[in-house]
Order: sequence, then structure tokens, then C-alpha cells
Amino acid sequence: MANMIATKTAMPEQDPNVRNKNFLEVALGYTPEMAVDEAKRCLNCKHKPCVAGCPVNVRIPEFLQKVAEEDFEAAYRIILSTNCLPAVSGRVCPQETQCEAKCVRGIKGEAVGIGRIERFVADYAREHNFSAGDKPAANGHKVAIVGSGPAGLACAGDLAAKGYEVTIYEALHVAGGVLSYGIPEFRLPKAIVKKEVDNLLELGVSLKTNYIVGRTISVDELFEGGYEAVFIGSGAGLPSFMNIPGENLLGVYSANEYLTRTNLMKAYLDDYMTPIFHGNSVAVVGGGNVAMDAARCAKRLGAENVYIVYRRGMEELPARAEEVHHAKEEGIIFKLLNNPVQILGDEKGHVTGIECVEMELGEPDASGRRRPIEKEGSNFVIDVDTVIMSIGTSPNPLIKNTTPGIEVNRKGCLVCTEDMATTRAGVYAGGDAVTGAATVILAMGAGKIAADSIDKFIMSK
Ligand SMILES: Cc1cc2nc3c(=O)[nH]c(=O)nc-3n(C[C@H](O)[C@H](O)[C@H](O)COP(=O)(O)OP(=O)(O)OC[C@H]3O[C@@H](n4cnc5c(N)ncnc54)[C@H](O)[C@@H]3O)c2cc1C
Ligand code: SF4
Repeated sequence: MANMIATKTAMPEQDPNVRNKNFLEVALGYTPEMAVDEAKRCLNCKHKPCVAGCPVNVRIPEFLQKVAEEDFEAAYRIILSTNCLPAVSGRVCPQETQCEAKCVRGIKGEAVGIGRIERFVADYAREHNFSAGDKPAANGHKVAIVGSGPAGLACAGDLAAKGYEVTIYEALHVAGGVLSYGIPEFRLPKAIVKKEVDNLLELGVSLKTNYIVGRTISVDELFEGGYEAVFIGSGAGLPSFMNIPGENLLGVYSANEYLTRTNLMKAYLDDYMTPIFHGNSVAVVGGGNVAMDAARCAKRLGAENVYIVYRRGMEELPARAEEVHHAKEEGIIFKLLNNPVQILGDEKGHVTGIECVEMELGEPDASGRRRPIEKEGSNFVIDVDTVIMSIGTSPNPLIKNTTPGIEVNRKGCLVCTEDMATTRAGVYAGGDAVTGAATVILAMGAGKIAADSIDKFIMSK
């Protein structure tokens, strides 16, 4: 019988005042009993609206049914049939705007905790060494993937499952893209990312790290090397700045640099050779998930005061509600309706403060959000020694500049058809490189569409 309790089974978490001093995971995960109880809240709806809300169409009610029956291995196989990164997506997907937003249980209470149960199943599978499947028979065709973020991994996984010889070329020394260099350890432990990448390698995918396509090797050279198609999943890692005075002072970081140094280069560990400046008062400019991650890292690195400086109000904050809630619990201070006009420094060129103006909200602009308007003469200074700019990113132009026939739009994003074909025959693309900064699951969805298109392209030759 269905569990008709209106609210989700609560997720155990580290205490905010303990976790804001360590990099261990915030959410501790369901026990088997909690997962079974929560799965029993599913009504197994005939029309499965939740599945339509998932960009990779995870067969949600089917896997929930298996969890309710305590058959966790069968649940894992069902999830894996469409999603090769369930421990990742169970942790970082914005389920509240996707599958859970469509869940029928959400009409008179809270949606089923689909993400939490997906995470439980993936963790259980890892802890119990469930195999990720058998290596498929080779079909004799080769495909190259540029970038090992969720788009590249999903594309590689689907092609490998069809028998393709797939090689991923990754610029960094570690696979995973933003999952490894951006999202902090306390939201997504790197050992978990590595395990899901290793599952793909076990299926026969090859990985070449420290390979910058466009510099170490070009797309043309990949074709000359015998690849019949190339997928570009190079993300949107180029940070934007405000172009205000003082942005070149010491102590000003882009969020990408700050997070890469902290997460990928492990600056949060005492025994690493790649440290980062530990600020005492830190201003993070921006209001998205990336800004929340940077602020929460700064707090954990020992900052007494960490400010989110955002030019609109709480309602307009683009970050997930859960991330904002966690940030507030951990003591992050929100300076809303404030916009920086310059960064101040001392005679040694180090940041000493950030000058802001107060804003008020006018009529909605093209984005549909109310336009922030400066309140004249409202300037004030926040004393800080570190400023982290988190106002967005765009795709790096390297591949476009070194690949004849590839077109980009005015934002630098690769131009693609619905089938993820670029303007050059045989070259496909997906994820943030095409959409600009978006989400893990949208990148995976695009990688899967591209894998299908690449298969059709090669098989029709
Ligand atoms: C700090 C942060 C937090 C986020 N939090 C969330 C979240 O909670 N939930 C969510 O859904 N989304 C989140 N996102 C967004 C999400 O991570 C991205 O949308 C997603 O990772 C995009 O996947 P991708 O594969 O397109 O690109 P990426 O993950 O950026 O991967 C691209 C890869 O390509 C490599 N590369 C780039 N150029 C080259 C080249 N020339 N040659 C070889 N390799 C190259 C890069 O090194 C990188 O490894 C977050 C993003 C950031 C930055
Ligand atoms: S919409 Fe909700 S209740 Fe219905 S099948 Fe999906 S998860 Fe279960």
C-alpha cells in the first residue's frame, strides 16, 4: 500500500555549525529503510508525468517500485539504462524544477523525493560493488569526444554501449568537467565522480587527459587519425567580469578559478602543494549556484564574514532554493539589492574593500525579472580582503578558432541543429558549449541525443 504521508522523508544532514568548517558531504543520504518508505509514496501513475520532466527520461516509477520491493540491484539497472551518472544526478540535479515538479504527489503535499532515492540506489550499488554492465561487442567504428564533463560522458557511454570505440580527450588532468573542478566536495564528493567515470572506462571508453583539443591536437587531426565523428562537450568555462575599476587587484578571483583551486587542486587540504589565499572577509558577486558554492567554500576555508552581493532581491536569486537555504544556515550574509561599482585596494595592490550602490527593482526586463535600478548617492563600502566574481561564464573560443566550418552565435555558443549536429559534417556538440552555462542533466540529455545522431550518421555512410 502507498505511503500517504504528505511530506518527504527528511534527509539527514551535518549540523550547519559543524559542516561550515569541513568539506565533508552536507547531506548524509537515506538509509535503506528511509529509501523504501519514501519510494512507497509513489502512486505509480499511469501517465508517468515525472518521466517527462527528466531530460534523460529515467524510468522513475519502475525504479521506485523496485526500491519499494527492496530489490535495489534491479532499481540500479533500470536507472543505468538511461542515466550513466546516477550518484551525481541524485545529488546535484535541480529535481524541484524537473521530475519532482511534475510529480502528482506534489499537488497536495511534497513530491516524492526522487533525487534522494536515486542517490540512495547509486550509493548502495557502489558500496555493494554492483557491476555497471558488460563490455559490448565492438562494431569497428571510432568516435572522439572532446571534454569529459557530463555531456561528453553521457555521449561516450551511449556510443560505447552501441559498440563504438570511444576516446575522450580532456584538457585537465582529471575527468568529470565541472563535476570535478567546480562543484565542491561537500556537495559532490570527487571519489563518487571518479567511480562513475570508472564505470564508463570499464565499458571500454578510453580517456586521454592533459589533451587540449585545438592546441595539443586539432579536430582535423582527430579525423585524420581515423575517427569518423567528433563530439564537442567542452563546456562554458570562460569567466565573465564586470569591467569595473579594481578587478585586477590581488585577492580578486573568478569563481571558476577559486573553485578550481579549492576543489580540483585541493587547496582545502593542508598537505597539498597548491594553496589558496584564505580570506577573512570575502565578497562573492552574483546570485547563482556557482556563487553559493564559492561563498560556502570561502566560509569553510576559515573566512569570518562571507557576503553574497547580488543586485536583485531574494525572489530573483537564480540559485536553487536548497543551496540558498544551506548557505544561510552556514552563516553566509546576503547583501541583496546591492551592486559593486569598484573594488578598492591598498598601496601593495591588495583588495581592501568593495564599493557598492543600493538598487531598487523596476519593471520586468527581457529576462522576465524586474530590472534593478541604481539608487543615486547610495554608495557604501564593505571591508573585504577577497572578492570572487561569479556573474557567469561562456564557452572558450579555442575550438571554434581552430576548427574550420564550425559556427558560433553571438554569445560564443556552438550553433547546432536539434540533433546536436554542428555546422560541420561529422562534428556534433552538446552541453554548456551549445547552451551556455546550464545544468548537468541537460548536458547529459544533449550528449545522449548526439550519440544517437552520431550512430545514424556513421551507419548511413
Ligand atoms: C560551481 C558550479 C556549480 C554547479 N552546480 C550545479 C548543480 O548543482 N546542478 C546542476 O545541474 N548543474 C550545476 N552546474 C552546472 C553544470 O555543472 C554544467 O551545466 C555541466 O557541468 C555542463 O556539462 P558539460 O559537459 O557541457 O561541460 P563541463 O562540465 O564544463 O565539461 C567540459 C569539459 O571539457 C573540457 N574541455 C574544455 N575545452 C577543452 C578542449 N579544448 N580540449 C579538451 N577538453 C576541453 C573541460 O576541461 C571540461 O572538463 C554548476 C556549475 C558550476 C560551475
Ligand atoms: S508522478 Fe510522482 S507519484 Fe506519479 S509515478 Fe511519478 S514519482 Fe510516482
